[in-house]
Amino acid sequence: MLCIICREDKEDMSDEHVIPDSLGGFYHIFNVCKTCNSKMGEKVDSHLVNHKLTDLYRFAQELEGKSGSLPNPFAGTFVEEGNPEVKARVEVNKEGKLEVLYHPVIKLKEDAGVVQSIEIAVDSKDEGKIDGILNKIIKRKGISESAIVKGERRCEIRTGGVGGRWEIDILKFKIGLLKIAYEFAVDSIPDYFLDADAIKISKILENADYEGVKEYVKIGSGLQPEIFEPFAGYLDLSSKKHYLILTSAESCLLCLVKLHEVFSIGVVLSKRKFLGFTETIIGVNDIDGGSFRKLRMSDLISECMGPLQTRFCYCFHDEYERATGEPEVSSPGYCYEGGDKGEISLYKRNGEKYPFLAHQLLERSYCQSRKNGSWQIDVFWFDQLQEYYVKSVGSGNLYRVIALEMSREQIKKV
Ligand SMILES: [Zn+2]
Repeated sequence: MLCIICREDKEDMSDEHVIPDSLGGFYHIFNVCKTCNSKMGEKVDSHLVNHKLTDLYRFAQELEGKSGSLPNPFAGTFVEEGNPEVKARVEVNKEGKLEVLYHPVIKLKEDAGVVQSIEIAVDSKDEGKIDGILNKIIKRKGISESAIVKGERRCEIRTGGVGGRWEIDILKFKIGLLKIAYEFAVDSIPDYFLDADAIKISKILENADYEGVKEYVKIGSGLQPEIFEPFAGYLDLSSKKHYLILTSAESCLLCLVKLHEVFSIGVVLSKRKFLGFTETIIGVNDIDGGSFRKLRMSDLISECMGPLQTRFCYCFHDEYERATGEPEVSSPGYCYEGGDKGEISLYKRNGEKYPFLAHQLLERSYCQSRKNGSWQIDVFWFDQLQEYYVKSVGSGNLYRVIALEMSREQIKKV
């Protein structure tokens, strides 16, 4: 089987997580060889998984990793503000809250090689450790127990803050996003694998070429959720979910990647479009639901919107016509020819049938769209110089129609 990263014929295929599993990814593919899989883990995924922003987000959202533990984004040593010799660490306690613990500070005063005093300052939680620390110093310095006069213990409460330096990577994590986009495209568009850019991207991933990434991962800084705005009506962008969107834009194939609320980026995957306007593919990784699924734009819309409701706007020529027509068209049992199949026939005034159906008229009509609460309402106005009639199934009467209103209610987001 051909590995999609090294492009060699390999036998040892592995379970590749397109979105790293420590980020809550549930999208698996099985056409990456074992060697490439471990390379992806070490050199590609690791920059996303261990990114400071990922740690902070996982900590805030309490997303546990594989080992069942929360990352500590504050690991390392901090120093007290204005007092750099006082060092502290920040730990996550049993309740998942942050706790500052000061490192013990030991000050020895010596005069001509003889210890005059020992000062030990510890965090109040470490008070029990003082004797142990003292004993170690006594042993190391060879001081006899009898020579020691203990002073009072002093408690000091620190109220200031501690600070440290963080390095935030703004380049290497993008290779992790490129991998997700590439694997999603290869898995979703059969012809994409042989594309010239796809071949280049697989080399960039295989060699962990961080510089090469820039040519492809270039829409947004990686941290701009605005690029997902066009899909905001259908996707729950403030949720914990991850979203992948494969779409064609201008003259290229584009993949938008959004990993929970942290990373959002656009990856240009090819100079060819591959997908038609309506063929956009959306991948939804639901962390809480433990699932990943793909759907087409049209499926996404029909999942989010309630059933389509249509109704015509009628035009009566005179009061007599209105008096007989209006009660019929507004009665609950009223239906017109073809209405049950969605293939509505249109007639001329003289009863002659048009050679096209009502929905074929829509593309030649002027459309007025508006929103009313959660309802999307589109009104298609027919050419007013032409007369179009529908035939009532009940009475056989012809009624003139001048517009078709289509409305759908948005019932949820995916
Ligand atoms: Zn391989």
